[in-house]
Amino acid sequence: MTDESSPVIWWVRRDLRLTDNPVLHRAADSGRPVIPVFVLDEVIESHGAAPKWRLGLGIRHLAERLEAIGSRLILRRGTAQTVLDALAAETGAGAVWWTRAYDPPSIERDEGVKSTLTGRGIDAGSMPGHVLFEPWTVETKQGGYYKVFTPYWRAVKDRDVPHPTSARTALRTPQTWPDSDRIEDWNMGAAMDRGAVVVRPWLTLGEEAAQARLTAFADGRIGAYGRARDLPGIEGTSGLSESLTYGEISIRACWHAGLRAASRGEAGAETWLQELAWRDFAYHLLYHTPHLLTENWRREWDSFPWNEDERVAEVTAWKRGRTGIRFVDAAMRELYVTGRMHNRSRMIAASYLTKHLMSHWRIGSRWFEDTLVDWDPASNALGWQWASGSGPDAAPYFRVFNPVTQLDKFDKDRTYVTRFIAELSDDPPGPARAFFDAIPRSWQMSPDDPYPEKPVVDPKEGRERALNAYKNREFPATTHP
Ligand code: FAD
Repeated sequence: MTDESSPVIWWVRRDLRLTDNPVLHRAADSGRPVIPVFVLDEVIESHGAAPKWRLGLGIRHLAERLEAIGSRLILRRGTAQTVLDALAAETGAGAVWWTRAYDPPSIERDEGVKSTLTGRGIDAGSMPGHVLFEPWTVETKQGGYYKVFTPYWRAVKDRDVPHPTSARTALRTPQTWPDSDRIEDWNMGAAMDRGAVVVRPWLTLGEEAAQARLTAFADGRIGAYGRARDLPGIEGTSGLSESLTYGEISIRACWHAGLRAASRGEAGAETWLQELAWRDFAYHLLYHTPHLLTENWRREWDSFPWNEDERVAEVTAWKRGRTGIRFVDAAMRELYVTGRMHNRSRMIAASYLTKHLMSHWRIGSRWFEDTLVDWDPASNALGWQWASGSGPDAAPYFRVFNPVTQLDKFDKDRTYVTRFIAELSDDPPGPARAFFDAIPRSWQMSPDDPYPEKPVVDPKEGRERALNAYKNREFPATTHP
């Protein structure tokens, strides 16, 4: 049945919101019954522990929001193509609409779904909603994609971005609701183990909390963002990455809040708008060069002598926050306790792994993918390839962050390291102690252990080793993909 009165399935993905959601708005405006559906599909099954757990919490929250307006969220599990095909047949849905994704696994899945449903005469398709500017709409003068951020920024900064639309407060319901799984039975947090209880209080869950966070930031801290964003010991950034990654807030709402702050003359607003554009730039690059996700973006790095073995002692020390380098260890523990990591700390931790420890960025990228509640396929891949030097517009390999002087510069009074490294204090603060409640018992770490006297790799020696390898590398002549 494809008539105009048949239900529309809203396939819920990284768009867990009722406000400014183009797919939901179009479905509601059609006047047809709307069946919101979340599928625990092959792409989501492959998510790491923290993102999968966080997504499960977001789903639960959205289900409550929908129930509050008299609707429901139907939960199904299985291959997206099979599940949606069966559900459309069962409900007589004439349309299945979703918010577009740009990462390779999602694109492959979505193409399969679209072709199956279209083959059955169902109106199946995607709409923008996850980024400000779709990757193919930003082109260089020669008609190619951008590889460097600054010209990309110049190309997009003055573009019109539609204003966000308000929340839907009613949806037409189908005559009968299809059956739904129970989210508790999915156990999406299983792999979080002891970590869930520790990380939970740090989350910003749901669209109301995200909106409140945006308002507080755009009406206050944004002014000082330009300087404060580099200091991991204070709350100088918006903290919205987690909400953006699951679409609990729309990127357009953030953009317009930034624009309003800029028009009031807030000094930090333009810098913040640029960071929002970095997120788009990551999707721009991932779409145009999908190998960004798993391969060196610059192929000449394939022959660099990276360590690719995760099990070596140095990498284990990095993961566990026991390198003896305070900035790195505080960063890795912040990750385990809060599910997030300050941007400056991500750069330092990633640089230490890929340069001082000469380990492949994929090891770090996978670890983040397992532990970050704000894991985003595009920003994570770009961040890692930026830090390691193998990516587009990357920090050159020979520019090696010194994690000791960086600490003096950005955590002068040691607020950050004290907050997260228990072994440095007689009476450690809550977050530092919480780390030991979150980590697997098999790590056998205790706050009473002495802090490592010597780093696993000395910053000076590690730097020299990395630079020698870089100098002596045998790079083939080709550079760009
Ligand atoms: P704010 O400073 O308030 O910025 C606002 C928003 O802009 C962020 O929420 C985010 O969506 C976007 N943004 C800011 N900085 C960047 C950036 N450098 N690249 C892309 N987008 C940015 N970000 C993720 O969202 N998910 C990831 O998995 C991720 N992995 C990273 C891995 C590495 C190695 C590095 C160096 C960076 C990574 N980033 C990632 C980017 C950045 O660290 C986070 O977006 C930022 O720390 C989030 O904090 P915030 O929300 O307070 O950001």
